[in-house]
Amino acid sequence: MTTVAAYAAPAPKAPLERTTIERREVREFDVLIDIKFAGICHSDIHQAREGWGEAIFPMVPGHEIAGVVTEVGPGVTKFAVGDRVGVGCMVDSCRECENCKAGNEQYCVEGNTQTYNSIGRDGEPTYGGYSQKVVVDENFVVRIPDGLSLDVAAPLLCAGITLYSPLKRFGAGPGKKVAILGLGGLGHMGVKIAHALGAEVTVLSQSLRKQEDGLRFGADHYYATSDPKTFEELNGTFDLIVSTVAAPLDFNAYLALLKPEGTLANVGAPEEPISLSLFSVIGGGKSLAGSFIGGLPQTQEMLDFCAEHGLGAEIELIGADQINEAYKRVEDSDVRYRFVIDTATI
Ligand code: NAP
Ligand code: ZN
Repeated sequence: MTTVAAYAAPAPKAPLERTTIERREVREFDVLIDIKFAGICHSDIHQAREGWGEAIFPMVPGHEIAGVVTEVGPGVTKFAVGDRVGVGCMVDSCRECENCKAGNEQYCVEGNTQTYNSIGRDGEPTYGGYSQKVVVDENFVVRIPDGLSLDVAAPLLCAGITLYSPLKRFGAGPGKKVAILGLGGLGHMGVKIAHALGAEVTVLSQSLRKQEDGLRFGADHYYATSDPKTFEELNGTFDLIVSTVAAPLDFNAYLALLKPEGTLANVGAPEEPISLSLFSVIGGGKSLAGSFIGGLPQTQEMLDFCAEHGLGAEIELIGADQINEAYKRVEDSDVRYRFVIDTATI
């Protein structure tokens, strides 16, 4: 075992603090990664607060990991010392079910092993990216292309893939009107990716405060959802809406903004249930879909796509002692647009 510096929540809702954790020795198919940057996802906050139900403490959050390989096990074939790599939300799965075999490890029938707040297949708790090193099986590691800096690449490992996956699945592209609901960590990557895919992109944000940024990221239009006129004007407009909102919303109102047979793909994971009238989907033959991160092959595809199109996250780089303040700002929708921890400060 190797002792590694980390930042952890000792208990639900407690502030995160500096600590140490043990990382396993490198096994046959493992790579040891020197973590350089770790993004702060709203999911880290939901879990550290136990907003989604019982969690495992102490918790070292972080599933947007970018770093450099410093050691490889004897059986490793995909990576070598010095490679620039990323780890996202998963570090293992059964690898044998039809979903794993299809590259959809997120749907593993036995349940995937999450990067943190999970019990690994060796029976040990997993600890995430707010730390200086991590040991991961090579099959759950992706390559960060040379064109992407590690700091702006880190958020792609969750925010990037979580938006890329539904945008591809539901056909965002030329001739399609796509709305991104919520301009936070996930949402701003959604705007960039949907624009790069060739779609006509609209941001639906609570206010017009971030309009200039949204247009700079590639949006063609920008509307405030606090203005009731938005809902009149945009009624029946979109082929696809991707909701990234972390709080319960009136989905009936957003479903009305779809064209007939349009899709509202939800990725936001609010802690409370929502109320939905099924008439909101019946009349227009509409679909309400969920989407959950993306598998390893698609995560690599997304990174290659982002490198090709020059897409990184807009980040605010912070020291580890600013994590608790950053959590507060994310909860207040005061994030521009992803906090990334410089892990050298841990
Ligand atoms: P974030 O940075 O906080 O962004 C969420 C955005 O939603 C905010 O910036 C805000 O944008 C908008 N918003 C917040 N509260 C709102 C409210 N009460 N009403 C309307 N809009 C509101 O969070 P994130 O990291 O992007 O994550 C977003 C959600 O996705 C979280 O619940 C997270 O757990 C979940 N998530 C899901 C997956 C998945 O695989 N499905 C993966 C990662 C994260 P505006 O200020 O522009 O309105
Ligand atoms: Zn995440």
